Amino acid sequence: MTDVTLQNVRKEFDGVVAVKNIDLQIPDGAFVTVVGPSGCGKSTTLRLIAGLERATDGTIQMGNEDVTAVEPKDRDVAMVFQNYALYPHMTARRNITFGMKSAGDFSDEEIDRQVREATAVLDIDDLLDRKPGELSGGERQRVALGRALVRDPEVFLMDEPLSNLDAKLRIKMRAELAKLHSEFETTTIYVTHDQTEALTLGDRVVVMNDGRIQQVDSPQRLYDYPETRFVAEFIGDPAMNMLAVDISSDGTEYEAVGPTFRIPLPEGDGLETVAGGQALLGVRPESLSVADSADRSSFAAEVTVTEPLGDSLLLECRTGDQEFKLHAEPRTAVEPGDRVALTVETERLHLFDPQTGAAIY
Ligand code: ATP
Repeated sequence: MTDVTLQNVRKEFDGVVAVKNIDLQIPDGAFVTVVGPSGCGKSTTLRLIAGLERATDGTIQMGNEDVTAVEPKDRDVAMVFQNYALYPHMTARRNITFGMKSAGDFSDEEIDRQVREATAVLDIDDLLDRKPGELSGGERQRVALGRALVRDPEVFLMDEPLSNLDAKLRIKMRAELAKLHSEFETTTIYVTHDQTEALTLGDRVVVMNDGRIQQVDSPQRLYDYPETRFVAEFIGDPAMNMLAVDISSDGTEYEAVGPTFRIPLPEGDGLETVAGGQALLGVRPESLSVADSADRSSFAAEVTVTEPLGDSLLLECRTGDQEFKLHAEPRTAVEPGDRVALTVETERLHLFDPQTGAAIY
């Protein structure tokens, strides 16, 4: 069993607190992605798990062992970096086997067998005699993965391993990584700033911001039930719209009141905490649509920009001084300057406390 547990882990570099007392539990065999904006502490978290950084506070456990003070070479992890970190003067084969040979724990037959297995999976059997300079970016990345695979570690740690590849190859390698994981089921922790990569690869996704964990959840739950305004705006493209509203209530029913709209709100615990005050109404672009005619839950807005995307028409609209986006049916006959009635799917609305950013629902 190699679950990885971080308890109250903090990392400070000369006054900069990169990781602020995080707790995280990664179950054995999971593929966990860590996503967040630049500088939020993703790489530092991964390097702490690898042992490349020493935690200022807190403990890191792998299986039943406390590894907080264990050297990287004595942790059973293999790391794959963005820049591959291959030795340029060695062939691909030597790059792959170097770690095993220098460990001295494996016979030549065992090393050969491991290399054959890993290179067959990665489809790089024909490239083993080439040096990194004679390989494409994607091939180099496969060699780096091969080197990690032959070590057969308890945990794979990957730091933006696909970000140097072009878009097409990235998608292909993404699918291959998912396949590798379903075959080997090795606990994998994968850092990326790319939300698509995080959502498609992770069975659990950790969203970080400013050194803290904002939410750990399945990809679909992150999208459907963001617990904070940050997660709501970070996950999803175009981002969730945020409209500043007043919350009015007659004691039983609640409405979100904006400059040109009154939208009835679904029931939810905590609504009373914002009644009579302000809140942020979160509306996904696909929860809005252009209405045939105005009704109680529709409101008027001015179209400012139209962007035909083929399968939908992205509209940027304005109500009062607030701007937002929505996906309309392709070929909808609207132009910038038009006024449209918009309908909201009220069951899919989100509401956030404007001070703390915490979700009410
Ligand atoms: P990116 O996506 O840009 O790689 P990240 O989320 O991986 O960012 P980290 O590299 O973990 O972020 O950095 C978190 C914070 O810690 C940043 O403010 C960074 O400048 C700081 N930091 C990281 N490593 C060091 C270091 N060795 N010395 C000083 N500060 C550091």
